[in-house]
Amino acid sequence: ALPPRIERNFPRDRPADSIRLLQWNILSQSLGEHNDNFIRCPMEALDWRTRRYRIIEEIFEYNPDIICLQEVDHYQFLSRALRTQGYEGIYFPKPDSPCIYIKGNNGPDGCAIFYRSNDYELIKFETRIVEVWRVQSNQVVILTLLRHKASGREICVATTHLKARQGALLSTLRNEQGKDILDFLHQNVDVAADCPIIMAGDFNAEPSEPVYSTIRSDSRFGLDSAYRGCDGAVDGAEDAGQEPPYTTWKVRGEGESCHTIDYVFFSRRQLGVNQVLPFPTGEQIGPDRVPSFQYPSDHFSLVVDFDLLPSANVSQ
Ligand code: NDP
Ligand code: CA
Repeated sequence: ALPPRIERNFPRDRPADSIRLLQWNILSQSLGEHNDNFIRCPMEALDWRTRRYRIIEEIFEYNPDIICLQEVDHYQFLSRALRTQGYEGIYFPKPDSPCIYIKGNNGPDGCAIFYRSNDYELIKFETRIVEVWRVQSNQVVILTLLRHKASGREICVATTHLKARQGALLSTLRNEQGKDILDFLHQNVDVAADCPIIMAGDFNAEPSEPVYSTIRSDSRFGLDSAYRGCDGAVDGAEDAGQEPPYTTWKVRGEGESCHTIDYVFFSRRQLGVNQVLPFPTGEQIGPDRVPSFQYPSDHFSLVVDFDLLPSANVSQ
C-alpha cells in the first residue's frame, strides 16, 4: 500500500460564486523517469501505473473549476479521467519536446487547460509557439476565453511553461518569452471590456528575475501574483508581501533545489484573491523532498479561490 499523501489544509468547497483554479507542473512521465535524475526518489514511486492515480487524486482533492497543467505527456489518460468528473480540456504539445528523444516515450509533453463544462462555456481558445526576437522557441502557451455561466462574465485563462535552466542568457530569454505572451494576451483579450485575466504556469523564474517584474508591471493588464503576500501561503507561516519560499523542492544528482518558479497571475482590477492552498512544510515534505511516494511531482500544486469584482464596465 502507498503511504498517505501529503496533507494540505484546504476546504474542499470554494466560497459561493468564487472561481477555483489549480496550477500544477505535474512532471512529465518520460522526463521524470529518465532525465531528471531525482536521486532521492525511489524508481517505484515514479512508476506510471501508480503515479497516475496520485496525480488524479491531487487534482480531485481540491475540486477546482479550472485546471492549468504543464509537462503533460499523458493527455489521453488525464482527459479520460477528468471527463468522468465533468471536465473538458485543451492540450498543446511543445514543438520539439525533449520527451520524444527518450526510449519508450509516450509522445511530447505540453500544456493543458481543463474547465468544468457545467459551470463554464468555452468561447474560444488560441495556442501559440512562444517567439523570442520573432523566432519560434520550444515553449508554448494556451489561451482560453471561458464564459462563467453563473455571472455571465467572460474570463481569460492562459497557461505556459517557460524555458528551464539557470544563467543570464536564459533569464533574458524567459523575459522575452514573457513579453511575447503578454502581446499574445493583448491580441486576444478585450481589455476595454473589463475581461478578468488569469495566467498560470511554470515560469522557471524566481521573483527576482526580469520576467516576473515584466508581467507585474505591464500597464495594459494590471497583473499581480496570487500567492504574493498571502497569509498562510506556507502552513503555519506568516508572510509579509512576499512570494512563498518554494513551489518546487527536489534533489537531483547535481544537488538540492528549492525555489519559487510557479505562479498564478491575475488581473487586479477584475479579480480578488479569497484564499490560497498552503504549501506543505519542509517537515511534511520529508528529507528526500519530491517527487516521492507521498507526492507525485517535483512541483507543488497552487490553488487559488478568486472572487469576481463588480465590473466597472457599465455596458455589462
Ligand atoms: P527546457 O530547457 O525548457 O527543459 C526541458 C525540461 O527539463 C523541463 O521540463 C525542465 O523541467 C527539465 N529540467 C530543468 N532543469 C533540469 C535539470 N537540471 N535536469 C534535468 N531536467 C531538467 O527544454 P527545451 O524544451 O528548451 O528543450 C531543450 C532541451 O531538450 C535541451 O536541454 C536538450 O537536451 C533537449 N532536447 C534534445 C534534443 C535532441 O536532439 N536530443 C532535441 C530537443 C531537445 P522544469 O521546467 O520543471 O524545471
Ligand atoms: Ca520538470
